[in-house]
Amino acid sequence: MSQKSDFGLIGLAVMGQNLVLNVESRGFQVSVFNRTTATTDEFIAKHPGKKLVGAKTLEEFVQSLATPRKIQIMVKSNAVKDSDRDAVDAVIEQLIPLLEKDDIVIDGGNSYYLTTERRDKYLAEKGLRFIGAGVSGGEEGARKGPSIMPGGPASTWEVMKPIFESISAKVDGEPCVIHIGTGGAGHYVKMIHNGIEYGDMQLICEAYNIFKAAGFTTDEMAKVFNDWNEGDMQSYLIQITGKALEQKDPETGKSIVELIVDKAGQKGTGQWTLLNAAENAVVISTINAAVEARILSSKKKARVAASKELTGPTVNITTEKAELVKKVHDALYASKVISYAQGLDLIKTMGEAKNWGLDLGRIASIWRGGCIIRARFLNKITDAYRENAELSNLMLAPFFKDLLSKTQQNWREIVSLATLNGIPVPAFSASLGYYDSYRAERLPANLLQAQRDFFGAHTYERTDKPEGEFFHTEWPEVI
Ligand code: NAP
Repeated sequence: MSQKSDFGLIGLAVMGQNLVLNVESRGFQVSVFNRTTATTDEFIAKHPGKKLVGAKTLEEFVQSLATPRKIQIMVKSNAVKDSDRDAVDAVIEQLIPLLEKDDIVIDGGNSYYLTTERRDKYLAEKGLRFIGAGVSGGEEGARKGPSIMPGGPASTWEVMKPIFESISAKVDGEPCVIHIGTGGAGHYVKMIHNGIEYGDMQLICEAYNIFKAAGFTTDEMAKVFNDWNEGDMQSYLIQITGKALEQKDPETGKSIVELIVDKAGQKGTGQWTLLNAAENAVVISTINAAVEARILSSKKKARVAASKELTGPTVNITTEKAELVKKVHDALYASKVISYAQGLDLIKTMGEAKNWGLDLGRIASIWRGGCIIRARFLNKITDAYRENAELSNLMLAPFFKDLLSKTQQNWREIVSLATLNGIPVPAFSASLGYYDSYRAERLPANLLQAQRDFFGAHTYERTDKPEGEFFHTEWPEVI
């Protein structure tokens, strides 16, 4: 191949390989480089006849690209603290002496948004352009069309737009990629997307756990999720849950899901979301419960020991199965709305603090396809923000207000039923707690203020005096 490549990618692990094949399939010539050369050779050999250039050295790779060069890095990323340096930094350092002014470096890994901001600044000082892009959809999304969340200067986005739009998923003809905002905005939104993904997954697991306790077989549960996937809760995660529950182990003939050890892993984006929510004083209790549920699941030894020591009620669910399915559906749907309301509230708050000019409706619209949280109801979120861009909380949009009103009785009954039967539903109940707290005109924080004033003279405002006037009471002495 004599002509220069349109695009270059470094890091040929699962995501990188699939993205390269995706970009190439849209008519672009792609150069590739991987630290371990054998991987590059194998990849090129596996795809004869494609417009791919395999480079053995970074110099060769850089020279094979048309200018301004567009280089996407897809390597392991784990730097969080300001002082951390990871594989993305190592690759950037190796690239810098080889690049020319205005070349574009894209980090498509799951990098922490503050790391992205550090790199953005650093590369700008070197006269290079940087995009921090969140890519969602796993292996299949990368190959067929992911949801892409790029952050960086708008002018750099304009250069990348044709490639990003052509490789992304499409919904109703709209590409699942927009310019999210400057600096770390893209990786930030991807991080919260992952937090929302944690919430969605945990809520589905809680629904499954209730069905299991009520004596449903895995085939019965698979049918419930398959049916739900035909209705208003249609989503990729509901779809794969139905398929996973159908799957039998070839060795034993048993349900594979029931053979899997109940210890969940995590890579950190959920925890980063919690830390960021705490920093911004935004409540994301559903996502919080989901992250904590994974943490508790991982303490298997402690749970097995405690199961022999700590008592609870005997499960006795007498609700007729079809009725239980309807009630759990409503509890799941309502809780899911709360999870998104919280995640979007965090994005809104952070976007305002950083002056990113985020468009929540358009962000929801690019999650409709390609990514793990793709779901029919994202259309409703998109519509809600298109109708009112200033919406203070998703729950208050007419469609969601109505939905929460119609589902709440069943939601309350499911949280009660689970609680009375000792079935843990941390995310269902956190969602309901948020809903009831948010809609409460008066919370018991008056007593809290009294306690604070009692022990620390923190002062309080009064209901019968103008706002902003603070009072202190001489409380009795307590020994
Ligand atoms: P990965 O396992 O995270 O990383 C493996 C790749 O990184 C290999 O190409 C490896 O090269 C390279 N690498 C590691 N250390 C390096 C170093 N010091 N210098 C140069 N290269 C180095 O791969 P992945 O699962 O495809 O993910 C890539 C990125 O996408 C990650 O940030 C990940 O978090 C993100 N992501 C992954 C998914 C997913 O579903 N897997 C989804 C969305 C986003 P060698 O072959 O030489 O070891």
